[in-house]
Amino acid sequence: MVGDVPIGGGAPISVQSMTVTRTADHEATLQQIYDLAMAGADIVRCTCNEIEAAEGLARIVPRSPVPIVADIHHQYRMALAALEAGVHCLRLNPGNIRKPEHIRLVAAEARDRGVPIRIGVNGGSLHPDLYEKHGGRVTPEAMVESALAEIGYFAEVGFDLIKISVKASSVPIMIEAYRQLAEVTDHPLHLGVTEAGPPPAGLLKSTAGIATLLAEGIGDTIRYSLTADPVEEARAGRQLLEALGLRERKNVDLIACPSCGRAEIDVVAVAEEAMAVFADREIPLQVAIMGCVVNGPGEARDADLGIAAGRRRGHLFVKGQNAAVVDEDEMVDVLVEWAEFIHEHGADAALARVDTDRAAREAERDRRVLLAEQGDDVNDGGARIERIRSRIA
Ligand code: SF4
Repeated sequence: MVGDVPIGGGAPISVQSMTVTRTADHEATLQQIYDLAMAGADIVRCTCNEIEAAEGLARIVPRSPVPIVADIHHQYRMALAALEAGVHCLRLNPGNIRKPEHIRLVAAEARDRGVPIRIGVNGGSLHPDLYEKHGGRVTPEAMVESALAEIGYFAEVGFDLIKISVKASSVPIMIEAYRQLAEVTDHPLHLGVTEAGPPPAGLLKSTAGIATLLAEGIGDTIRYSLTADPVEEARAGRQLLEALGLRERKNVDLIACPSCGRAEIDVVAVAEEAMAVFADREIPLQVAIMGCVVNGPGEARDADLGIAAGRRRGHLFVKGQNAAVVDEDEMVDVLVEWAEFIHEHGADAALARVDTDRAAREAERDRRVLLAEQGDDVNDGGARIERIRSRIA
């Protein structure tokens, strides 16, 4: 348990993120913790790098909406101070808190308080001895050996409230390190690709590493380490778990067609506008933005709600059933209003407000006009196939 959040043992995979404020500035840090929790973080880590940070934690912990982990590097005394501040978990880096007597002291104090510790091995700050031993480079074996050595120190004082991470900035090395670790320990694992960088590459690297392992059944809690607003980290973590079906959907799942020659609107712009408006609204529905009424309602029939464009107006549909016709420039506003209504009252109540027969007739009319104007091969696929056949023949 990290505070009231269970980790491992079949518990839901949790999302973590880290504040970038000075922890000593407890008001700014608390504000960011609330933002992260809103975006999907179940647990938040704050650096504890100076005595003022530990004092800040003493003010933050009682007011935080989620459990707090203190991030400790170099100074074991900061771990003791953070425990005194009441944090729910410590993160220790074995690469820079190296003296066994210091490690044992912190572990004994955590044991007495019932506070867990994450052994946070990081490829970039591996213990120098291990670095040398493994050929002067970061290897999965070196990171696993570092974690096991730390577990050994903890065991000497009877402490086993442990979770472990072996993060590297190289995705293949990180994946292999976690695979090896999962073979030799049953402790919960915290997954992440360290220093993944700014989006979109950072998002891709993190997703590649974390999703691969989760699909193999490895991992109990995750963090995206992005060079970006940490709210993006929390949101990405949550979205990954929802996409993999590992957590209940909390926010809108926006789907959109890729657009093609039939599109009657700028699908990318409308989808981005909708993404921004729905953002952190807690509406667990799938909402579709489709470029044309010819194919859109059919292709997105499983969405809870969607809109398809047709001749400068939008055709709103609910579970594939036409519901309303709206002006093109009101499409996103109307989607939000319907999404909120459906979330609160259900789809049947939403449909009962409108004349669905009329909406279906209007959609069919636009569909026919578009088909007449564009033909049924607007992307020219059939004509191309004919040309290919005539050349080959
Ligand atoms: S046919 Fe219509 S719904 Fe399908 S990709 Fe093209 S514009 Fe989008």
